[in-house]
Amino acid sequence: MPVIEARNINFSYDTKSVMGNVSFAIDEAQIAAVIGPNGSGKTTLLKIINGTLFPNSGKMFVDGKETVRWSRREIARKVAIVPQETSMIFPFYAEEIVLMGRFPHLGRYSFEDKNDYKIVHKAMEKTDTLTFADRRFDELSAGERQRVLIARALAQEPKILLLDESTVFLDLKHQAQFLALLRQLNTEQKLTVIFVTHDINLAAQNAEKIILLDSGEIYAIGNPADVITAANIKEVYDVDILIDQNPKNRLPRMTLLT
Ligand code: ADP
Repeated sequence: MPVIEARNINFSYDTKSVMGNVSFAIDEAQIAAVIGPNGSGKTTLLKIINGTLFPNSGKMFVDGKETVRWSRREIARKVAIVPQETSMIFPFYAEEIVLMGRFPHLGRYSFEDKNDYKIVHKAMEKTDTLTFADRRFDELSAGERQRVLIARALAQEPKILLLDESTVFLDLKHQAQFLALLRQLNTEQKLTVIFVTHDINLAAQNAEKIILLDSGEIYAIGNPADVITAANIKEVYDVDILIDQNPKNRLPRMTLLT
């Protein structure tokens, strides 16, 4: 059974239709990427998956149950999102932000216990954020804030992790560290990952399934070799690219031709 299934989803912001007839399925422990030009509906799609937004028609299923039937708390125990916007003015310390990831797991009137702090500590260790645990979030660099938000999502201990451009501010070492961590969680804990990215090579090298969106519709879906083609990219992004293969793994590799 797929862990995420979209059936014929249509979505509008007020009267502006931004998503039409979107259907796809993601299996448990799959790593999928969503690509597409600005405004093609990538962020909207993530918000529909985590139940922040609901389709106007069609259905979104998470773990076999429609998102409209999940409570916020219930769905937050399954799905964590690392949002794109990291410049929110949070007058909190980094550790407090990560601790927020535990909220969906706490009883209504209970406080965090030792185990919650242990999980928070581990998430911060894995994201290399412990050194600034007691610094204010809004005083961190963009890359440091991004890592704190990744730690918060990990502390949530989700089954499904949604990432919205979560590597853009990371330096190469932290990018590599994060990708290795995703792979580890994917293999060891069957974590399902859906990441939105502008970096087509990042998608091609790391996702088993790629969804290429164009104006709120799925233009192509499938494995990297089927979706990342010069013809598809030309049609959707209106740019010329050269595709060859990464000599190490034979996955498609693109170069922008200017
Ligand atoms: P992407 O992530 O691919 O850049 P988005 O999902 O953010 O695309 O946006 C898809 C479309 O919906 C765009 O045309 C955008 O302007 C519009 N949009 C996004 N958020 C809102 C909103 N809160 N209210 C109205 N329109 C929105």
